[in-house]
Parts: sequence; structure tokens; C-alpha cells
Amino acid sequence: MNNYSIGTKAVQAGYTPNNGEPRQIPIIQSTTFKYDTSEDMGKLFDLEASGYFYSRLQNPTNDYVAAKIAALEGGSAAMLTSSGQAANFMAIFNICECGDHIVASSSIYGGTFNLIAVTLAKMGITSTFVSPDCTEEELSAAFQDNTKLLFGETIANPALTVLDIEKFAKVAHKHGVPFMVDNTFPTPINCRPIEWGADIVTHSTTKYMDGHGACLGGAIVDAGKFDWMAHADKYPGLCTPDDSYHGITYAEKFGKEGAFITKCTSQLMRDFGCMQSPQHAFILNLGLESLHVRMPKHVENGQAVAEFLEAQPQVAFVNYSGLPSNKYYETAKKYLPNGGCGVVSFELKGGRAAAETFMKNLKLAAIETHVADARTCCLNPATSTHRQMNDEQLKEAGIPAGLIRISCGLEDKEDLIADLAQALEKIQ
Ligand SMILES: *Cc1c(COP(=O)(O)O)cnc(C)c1O
Repeated sequence: MNNYSIGTKAVQAGYTPNNGEPRQIPIIQSTTFKYDTSEDMGKLFDLEASGYFYSRLQNPTNDYVAAKIAALEGGSAAMLTSSGQAANFMAIFNICECGDHIVASSSIYGGTFNLIAVTLAKMGITSTFVSPDCTEEELSAAFQDNTKLLFGETIANPALTVLDIEKFAKVAHKHGVPFMVDNTFPTPINCRPIEWGADIVTHSTTKYMDGHGACLGGAIVDAGKFDWMAHADKYPGLCTPDDSYHGITYAEKFGKEGAFITKCTSQLMRDFGCMQSPQHAFILNLGLESLHVRMPKHVENGQAVAEFLEAQPQVAFVNYSGLPSNKYYETAKKYLPNGGCGVVSFELKGGRAAAETFMKNLKLAAIETHVADARTCCLNPATSTHRQMNDEQLKEAGIPAGLIRISCGLEDKEDLIADLAQALEKIQ
């Protein structure tokens, strides 16, 4: 599949049926797998042969879909997880342990921020957050002797900052650590971070990849390029024998291309069990089959809505990297030449009251705590996710009371704009 372009991979990569086999990916709805001899099964446990024995670790349906995502991102291996949160946790914990340190962009998804700043800290993994706009020198200065990972988001949810991936990858590699990037918002259709030097890519497949608001899910992709053995002192989990797995040294046995995902599957998935169900993997694959058709439409709608909003007198400010007025316009032209995503945020001049009136009058855009699916939805943080904060606190957090996030779906843009226009008119 490697010679085909991205749209062809979205449709066909990962699963190639043999003569007489099902055309669509079969859902292997089985927790376990049968063997003729104990020796046969023993080889699987020793990772001497590849195959399936228990769906908590691996399932063929999931593997077909993971292989498609690996092909889309240009990685060497991939795995699915039960959610995006599970993907980021597992990918980080696969290389960091108690006593280690992470450098992360401060502009990331709230759940990931909590994971790194609070939950991982309880496990003895400390962190330093840096501005996504920091210079190479500032980024370098955040590294410590025990730093094992640099983390960022291609387009951050919800701040919509665009990361200078090449710069982040360069500094990570200068310090001998991998660069991990959450590529949920652009998807590999609009950006492939591995081509810019990223080592590990994560996804909340809950968003555009599924694209229909149907299934929670996550994915981890390894570029297969980071040389763990060259930094063996830093990564004992990959470079010394795993006593919990028959003394296997992952980086030695599976090389650069296979070590990361094999360890994450056979050790962390075994112990944490945050597997995606094969049913969900099947539904995720239906979404992936049209990802290359849907993303340009999300971008078209996002761009049209952002341009419309920017011209309205009730609107104070629009945040969308496809607008020339945006701080990240040039960065986006480099990393997202076909556009980023369909999520736009904007501030109403009338603050909280205007936001409430506006949202109440929308007919097509539904009020939801979700983004990135086929149906347009929107959220006013001041009256929902951040309602415990007063106007002053919101301002300090960079979330003005009149801020609205709109995730443009796949409807026709003329109807979306007409809906926004009639709701804006209702504001006194
Ligand atoms: C939603 C999201 C997550 C978390 O994913 P879930 O599937 O909800 O667990 C992580 N990162 C980003 C960028 C997200 O948008």
C-alpha cells in the first residue's frame, strides 16, 4: 500500500482479503482463540510467533484498523486503545517511569494537561510546560537530565494553536529524547507529523477519524525511527530484559520499528486492559474509509464560517489558522497546506449574555461538549465546562465569557452561515 496516495490508503490500507474472504473487515467478536497444542500457544506467549490468544492484548479486527492508521501516518506500527486519553497515557507510560520528567507544550487538550500535570505527577513523573511559541533556546532550557519525552499537539484543542513540529522535533533529538505529538485535529489527511520529525503520534479517534460521534477510541503510531538502544541508559524499559515478559529486551528483539508498540501491547495493554472493542474498531474503520473525503469539507466549512464571523459587527475576534489575521497563519501554511480542521472559536462583544442569546437561537448547530463530527456543534465554556468561574477568572484563563467554540460539520456552508446570521441578529 506504501506506493498509493493518502486517499487510497484511507479506503484500502490495513486489510487485504485473500481469495473468497470477506471484502469488508471481519469483526472478530471473540475474547479468545483456540490452539491445537500447548506448544503452539506457548510460542505466542514467548513472542516467538505472532498470533492471537486473548482480545485484551490483540484482536485481528483492531489490528487491521491499526495497520491502516499506521499507513496513513507513515509509521512502522500502531495500536488501538479504548479512548484518546488511554492512547496518550499508554504512549507516555511506555517510556516514562517514576523519577522521569516530561517537557510538554502548555497548549494541549485539558484532559492531557491533567494527565501530565496531576495524575502522572502522583506516579512520580514530573513535567515542565512551555509555550508552544517558545524559541529553541527556551525549549532547550526546559530539559533536565531525567527528561525522557517532549510532547505537543499539532493543532491544540481548544486553543487552536499550531505547533512548529520541526522545531520541537529538532530540540527533542538534540537532547536524545523522542518527540510525541497528538495529531487528533488535523488527522493524517491534513498533516503527517512523522514527515516533520515526530517519533510517536497519538490520536483521539473519537473525533474526525470516527467522524460521526459514534465511538470513543484512540490510537498510537510509532514512526519506527527513534534509536532506543543509542540511548539505552535513558530507556531501561525498552533496552533491558523485561522480567515480566520472559526476559525479553524489546529494542533488541524487535528493533527500532517494532519495539515501542510490541512493549506497549504485551506489557501495558496486558496490565491496564484499555482495549478498544472490535465492534468499535469496525465502526472506526467505516469512518476512516471516508476521512480523505470528509476533511476537505470540514476545512471548507470552517474557513467559510471563520471568514463570515470575522466580518460581523457583533464579533470581537475570530481564532482560525486559515485566516490571514491569525497568529499561526504562516505556520499553518507550512504544516497544513490543505487547511487544518473545522473547529473555529470566536468571541462575542456582548459577553456572557450575548453568548447565551446567540446559542439559544441556533437551529442547526447543537450545543454539545464534543467536536469534530459530521453535525455542527458549539459550546460556550463560560456557561458550560467553565461555569464555576466568574468573568474575571475566565478572562485570566484566556477564556473570555463571550467565547464560543464551533465545530463545523459536513452540512452545506450556506445553511450554517444563515443559521449563525439569524442567531447573531437576535443579540440586542
Ligand atoms: C478529545 C481529545 C483527547 C481525548 O480523547 P478521548 O477519546 O475523549 O479520550 C485527546 N487529545 C485531543 C487533542 C482531543 O481532542
